[in-house]
Formats: sequence, C-alpha cells, structure tokens
Amino acid sequence: MIAEVIVNSTAKKLNRTFDYNIPKHLEDFIVIGSKVLVPFANFKTPEEAYVVGIKEKSEYKVKDILKIEDSLTDKQIELAKWMSKKYFCNVSDCIKLMLTPGTRNKNRDNRITDKKINVVYVKSEEKIEFDMEAGKLKTEKQKRVIKFVLENPGCMVPEIEMFTGCTRGVVNTLVKNGYLEIIEKTVERNPLIGKRIERNNKLKFTEEQQNAYNEIEKSINKYKEFLLFGVTGSGKTEVYLQIIEKLLSKGKSSIMLVPEISLTPQIINRFVARFGKEKIAVLHSKLGLGERHDEWNRIREGKAKIVIGARSAIFAPVKDLGIIIIDEEHDSSYKSETTPKYQAKEIAQKIAKEENCPVVLGSATPEITTYYKTEIGEIERLELKKRANKSELPKVEIVDLKQELAYGNRSMLSRELYQSIEKNLKNKEQIILYLNRRGFSTFIMCRECGYTVKCKNCNISLTYHKFNNKLKCHYCGYEEPVVNKCPECGSDKIRYFGTGTQKLEQEIKKQFEGIKTIRMDVDTVTKKNSHEKILETFKKENIDILIGTQMVVKGHHFPNVTLVGAIAADSSLNIDDYRASERTFQTLTQVAGRAGRGEKVGKVIIQTYNPENFSIQCAQKQNYEEFYKTEKALREQLKYPPFCDIIVIGFTSKNQNEIIKLINRVYKYLNDKLDIESQKILRPMPAPIDKIQNKYRWRIIIKGKMDEKTEEILNICLKKIYKMNNKEMRVAIDVNPNNMI
Ligand code: ADP
Ligand code: ZN
Ligand code: ZN
Repeated sequence: MIAEVIVNSTAKKLNRTFDYNIPKHLEDFIVIGSKVLVPFANFKTPEEAYVVGIKEKSEYKVKDILKIEDSLTDKQIELAKWMSKKYFCNVSDCIKLMLTPGTRNKNRDNRITDKKINVVYVKSEEKIEFDMEAGKLKTEKQKRVIKFVLENPGCMVPEIEMFTGCTRGVVNTLVKNGYLEIIEKTVERNPLIGKRIERNNKLKFTEEQQNAYNEIEKSINKYKEFLLFGVTGSGKTEVYLQIIEKLLSKGKSSIMLVPEISLTPQIINRFVARFGKEKIAVLHSKLGLGERHDEWNRIREGKAKIVIGARSAIFAPVKDLGIIIIDEEHDSSYKSETTPKYQAKEIAQKIAKEENCPVVLGSATPEITTYYKTEIGEIERLELKKRANKSELPKVEIVDLKQELAYGNRSMLSRELYQSIEKNLKNKEQIILYLNRRGFSTFIMCRECGYTVKCKNCNISLTYHKFNNKLKCHYCGYEEPVVNKCPECGSDKIRYFGTGTQKLEQEIKKQFEGIKTIRMDVDTVTKKNSHEKILETFKKENIDILIGTQMVVKGHHFPNVTLVGAIAADSSLNIDDYRASERTFQTLTQVAGRAGRGEKVGKVIIQTYNPENFSIQCAQKQNYEEFYKTEKALREQLKYPPFCDIIVIGFTSKNQNEIIKLINRVYKYLNDKLDIESQKILRPMPAPIDKIQNKYRWRIIIKGKMDEKTEEILNICLKKIYKMNNKEMRVAIDVNPNNMI
C-alpha cells in the first residue's frame, strides 16, 4: 500500500503530497490522518509528515515510511484541507492545530504542586522571522528549538531537550542572542486539582431563559446556529450550563469557547461546581505542555466531555460532539492573526454541520455581521432582555471635553469625573478608569518644525515609556533614549502628545493624595504578572482605582465598583478601520457593564470630544438595536461586511522595487480573472504602516464577496507567485482581518 503524505513544512512549495510505501508491519496502524516520520530529499534527519490519502500503487519509485507517531481522523484531515483553501495556507499548518500537544512529560506529577520552574518563551517572533529569512539563524538545531518553543510557549528546558534532541547549550545560545527568553514562574496548582469546590445545582430559569433553552434543546442532534443575545448578567451562562447538562445525560460532549482573557478561575469554577472536575478539560495557553497533552488525551478518550478553552480548543478531539458554544462571540480573539488565519466561528460552523449539532453564539453586543444573519434568517436569535439577578443597569453620563477645554480644564479628568471620584473615595467604593492607550503618551513631537521621533525599522512613531525613560517601538521592540533636542532643527521645544495609562496614573496620584492605584495594560501584565493577579489584588487589597486598557473591560465581577470612567472614548473612533464604531460601541457598553454589579447602582462617565457620535450615544443608552440600525445602513452604503468581504493581499519584502513589480502583475492578473462588476479591486498601495522591521509592506484590497470562485482564483494566483520562488517576498491573504494596519 502507498500513503500520500504532506510534509510538515511552512515552505509553500511543499504544500503538495508525496508518495511513500507503507511497510507491512505498519499496515494495520497507518490510516489517513497518521503523523509519520519519512526520509525526505537528502535531509539527514527524518521529516514529520501527515498521511492524507492511501492508494494501491504509485507511479514513482518510493521510499518506506519509517515510523508512526500520532493519528487524526478522516474528518480532521478533511477539515485541514478545507482550511488550507479557505485560509490560503499549507495543509500542514492546519493539521498542527489538531495534533496532540507534545508527548507525555515524565516529570508531570511534580508539577501539580506549587513550585518555581524556569520556562522558555520566544522573545520576538518578528526578529526570528526576519533573521530566518535573512539566513542569520543557520543551524538546524537552532531552528528546531525555535520551532518547538514557538509551538509550545512556556515549555521547560528538559522538554526542549527531550523533544528536539538538542542540548541546553543550544537554548542558552538562543537566549544570549535575543531569540528566546527564560522566565521563572510559579507553577500554580492545576486549577482543578486539589481544589474543593462546593457543588451547586441548577437554578430555576426565568421565563426568558426557559424559552431560549427550549429552542436550543429542540435542535439537539441537528445543525442549527443560534445567537443568544442578552446583556451581561442576563443569565446566558446559566443557559449554557443547563444545555450542557442535558447533553451530558445523553452521553454527549460540549465545547465552550471563551476569549482567552475571560478564561478565569471564576468561570471555570462555575462549571466545576455544576459538573465536577473529572468531566471538564480546560485548554489554555498557560498550561504546560504535559498538561495540555493530558487534557487532550482525556478528551480523546471520552473521559472529559466538557471542553472549555480559548480559540484553538475548537480543534479538541471530542467524541460525540453535542454542541459548540462561543461566548462573547464578538470578541476579536476568535480570529487568528497568525497562520492559519482562521475564524473559530467559521470552523465551529463547519464542524457542527459535519457532526449534526447546534452552535450557540452568545453576546451582549453581537458582531454586526452576526446580528445581520439573524435578520436574514441564517441564525436564530434568542433574547434575554432582563438581568437575571435583577441588579440594575448603571446610569451612564456623557461629558463633552470641548466644554471642559473652554472652561480652562486641561487635565485628563473632567470636573464631573473628578467630583465623582472624590465622592467614591469618601464612601470607600472602588473605581475603574479605562483608557484605550498604554504607555505614558503616544508620541513626541517638535513644536518648532513638527518632527516626530519614529522607529528606524518601522515607519511608526515611538512611544514614551516613563519608567525607563525610553522611546519604544510597539511593533519591533526597538528602543532609544529620550531626546531633549529636536534631531531635525535643534530646537528644545520637544513636547509629549497624547495620553496613556501611565500618565493617567501619575496625574491621578497628583490630584488625589495618598490614593492607592493599580495599573493593568500590556506593560504591567507580563508572563509573570498575570491579569488575574492584578485583578485579585485590586479586589482583595482595597485598591481605590484600577486603571487600564481594553483588558479591564472583560467580564469580571467587582461588587464594590460603583464608578467607571472612560477617559477618552474617541481614541478608538479615530482609527482607520471600518469596525471603529462597532469596537467603540462594544467596549463602551462593556466598560459600562463593569459598574454596579452588586447591590449598589453604578455610575458610568464617558468623556469624549464627540458627544453627538452615534456609537457613543447608543452606548450611553445601552441600546444595541439603535446602534445596529445606524451602523448597518452605513455599511450597506459604503460596502463593508456583512455586505461584502474585505480581502487583503499583503506583500512584504526588503526590496520595494521587487514588490512594486510583482504587485502590479498580480493586480493585472486579478483584473483579468475576477468579475470586476461585483469585485472591486483597489489599486496596489503601501499599507498604512508601510515598513516594519525594515521590510516594506504593500497590499491590494478587494471589496467583494468571498465566494468559491474567488477563493479558487486567489489560490491559483498564490501558486503562481510561489512558483516564481522569490525567497525574499512574502505574500499572504487575510479575509476580514482584525486590523487594517
Ligand atoms: P451572563 O452569562 O449573561 O453574564 P450569568 O449566567 O453569569 O449571566 O448570570 C448572572 C448572575 O445571575 C449570576 O450570578 C447567576 O448566578 C444569576 N442567575 C442566572 N440565572 C438565574 C436564575 N434563573 N435565577 C437566579 N439567578 C440567576
Ligand atoms: Zn524640530
Ligand atoms: Zn520598530
């Protein structure tokens, strides 16, 4: 028998099958989906490959498969092939998401108790990518170790040694050269082991919950998609819990996806309290490799029938799948920003159709596209209009910052917000301040000549970081000391513009003496200092104010928070992205939802220069329908999703002339092939950030429906480009990307 295999490689040329002989002794074990080792080309070590087809004979002279390592199902292979076409990537990239993570770690038992261990992370993916292509990372061993760490962030050195066959020395060299970093972390107990959680029983449904539940229950055993649309606290999770319980009684499994950042002990404990820990598998990036491996196996063996995890948990090898639930379905983390650039909601739909089971999307602020589908009947909408525990929605006020300026108030706090903070401090009630920017200030500029300090590698302004008094690039990590004189004209009128979380914290401390604050943004949330820890501290240690970016927005429950301030609500409005209004509305609505979760009624203050803007007004009224209507009309008029797709074909290379040559050819090709009546192909243009890490970035944007025909034409086009074999050039296609920079 002959196996058709795909070699595990990111090289686009290798995205095709090769024939290998299945030796007699392996015949009973190799199936479509097996992960095997094969001798490849003239490589010294065997390559990993996946069996994607089996046939009687081959027209070539073939070599033997050496070894079998793991197996996927036919369905998984089909899914990977489908993904490869849909997301314009290699089949092997997709298969990797479905394989058992690592192999059993021998020392695993030691890891269950708290202790300090050293874990390895990649320091800069950009640098690695760049140096790989520049040929700076030469040895096979270094490449192997980097690949392993990329796939297993947070692995331990002994694991690297075991799985790559490389010594600690290789790791050390990579650390020294700035590719990897070693961090000491406390291994917390597996959240589910050794913890005693009171079991609790199901609550008696409200009428709305009961209706929603009944509709979903009717669709058990068939494919159907639902949107469970309900404000925070309306009892969506309770509906999920009871539907999962029902399925469990029929021996069926469930997958529930939540945004990585919401995967907190709070939510996990709620599931454990209902179902006990044996039946639950939790998949998230902080688990060690061995733990992930074990969870994967418990799922495959059918021991764990409830899978809770972030985006990639959609690929968990569950048996008898009964439902897929995607909570906070509007969250952008469900779209992968790295290859394969898949959207978990699309994968869920594909899997659910295959397995004949329902998909439930839950949100208080659904994505415009999702809500639109409920209007045209592709998704059934179920609504929960009231909060389940009867706590009241907070009062939201808008403050016009233009008037503050006119009054002469130049501080970051309006008078209204200042007084409210004062009042809260007096009453010993907590406060959350939300600002959509990290750092101290966004950029610095010369007032004489307008010069702004930009990154040498990327065409983007550097951000000032106060704690080390440095200017830093958020794209490549480049740093330089602060300048006091303008490098352009020599003037000393250098000023800081914009506001960031750090500056806000400093200002608050100046205005309210002796106040206790804690800050949560990408700079304070590190691998050592998780956002959970920050939130715990905020809750337990009577910190007065939590100051943070986006991260403070996500579903946490603080009964003592009665005031929430959005410092600069406009900052997300002014970005160059068709989802700017949607994101603004979503975050403001969610920020507002943080106030008054307990008995006391909360107050929310939104500061803005655009008080008349509809997304801000609708957020004030917490009126999704009104927001949706206005936004839908705009999208229809301007041709944005859901009325068409935005297809971005990105070109990156160090050589700008090469890009221009190629991109014009591609542009012409697409104009010939695509139906330009319905597909609007925009002229080749540099991306808004036209250089990152010294590589130029250009792109072609297509506004049109991503149908099968377009998909095929684009795939053929990519193949033609790869055939040209220009190693410098990277061409990638992303459909409806998360951000347009
Ligand atoms: P959501 O997931 O929509 O934010 P939850 O399911 O977390 O809402 O419910 C919010 C709060 O209301 C929780 O404290 C939950 O225990 C409570 N709750 C939910 N459903 C009911 C119910 N039927 N009766 C009483 N309390 C409920
Ligand atoms: Zn100047
Ligand atoms: Zn940079």
